Amino acid sequence: MTIVALAGGTGGAKLARGLQLVLPAGDLAVVVNTADDVERHGLLVMPDHDATLYQLDGRFDAERGWGIAGETWTVIEELGTYGEETWFRLGDRDFATHIARTARISRGASVTDAVLALQATRGIPSAILPMTDARVRTQVRTDDGWLDFQEYFVHLRQAPEVREVRFDGIQAAAPTPRVEAAIGAATAVVIGPSNPIVSIGPILAVPGMWDLLGEARARGVPVVAVSPIVGGVALKGPADRMLASLGLESSARGVAAGYRELLDGFVLDEVDRDQEPDIRALGWRTLVTDTMMTDDASRARLAKAVLEFAGSR
Ligand code: GDP
Repeated sequence: MTIVALAGGTGGAKLARGLQLVLPAGDLAVVVNTADDVERHGLLVMPDHDATLYQLDGRFDAERGWGIAGETWTVIEELGTYGEETWFRLGDRDFATHIARTARISRGASVTDAVLALQATRGIPSAILPMTDARVRTQVRTDDGWLDFQEYFVHLRQAPEVREVRFDGIQAAAPTPRVEAAIGAATAVVIGPSNPIVSIGPILAVPGMWDLLGEARARGVPVVAVSPIVGGVALKGPADRMLASLGLESSARGVAAGYRELLDGFVLDEVDRDQEPDIRALGWRTLVTDTMMTDDASRARLAKAVLEFAGSR
């Protein structure tokens, strides 16, 4: 049995932790967005992969919402003294991840092989698979023009309104053989509660990915999504404002509609129960449940409910 989860670095990564807690070892493959990746100080930084890695190896800093708990900041401060830009904060332990990964890639490893090797050293029982090995980078258009994603997300703290989103390099990208194999062997696919535009959006935009998921569905594999919008708002990050500024509805219903014919089930929070009939009208099964993942117990509870819902097709 393989459960495939699609994830960004916050909601999707938390649900991945819940899934890992309730599934037998080896049964979870998490396909992560790589369009947020960025080069800093000569190193490849992969925010969504790394948030998922730190969730799955138990080191994630839940209080700060990113990076490793108990971090120190010596290297970034020292880099500042050399005149390097330091607005993209990287902790000392986090730096080790980026150095080890970039070293492997510069010795010839693919991105996938490099991160799988790091995951193996952490002993996690799941596979975290980059959506592609090609270089894809999200860019957003604001009223001041196109910006690289991390310039908008971290440097400008998501202040500008997003008018348009593009995934530079996506046409030349393809799902990796590891992603193809995981989806080919999946018994269920869970689209995590991640930003539908800039976390799940790039994964689904990799040429061939939508077809792989469609083929899985045609084989009878359930594809279910969990809403990242609860009570009309994003619990973290700009997903709600982004949906609105792109002319979409910031609601569970709006997210559900965006997944079009891809799904057969949608999970929404109890506070959004009144939207259930509209989502059912799209032709999908629904599960209304508490989707707030505040600790391991609630992550595991939601993961179990989602798996039961997927399997009840
Ligand atoms: P990013 O890569 O850091 O932007 O994170 P993601 O795209 O993975 O996740 C952002 C989304 O996660 C936001 O829309 C949040 O509302 C959602 N989210 C965060 N925590 C939870 C949670 O506990 N439950 C649900 N349903 N959504 C959550």
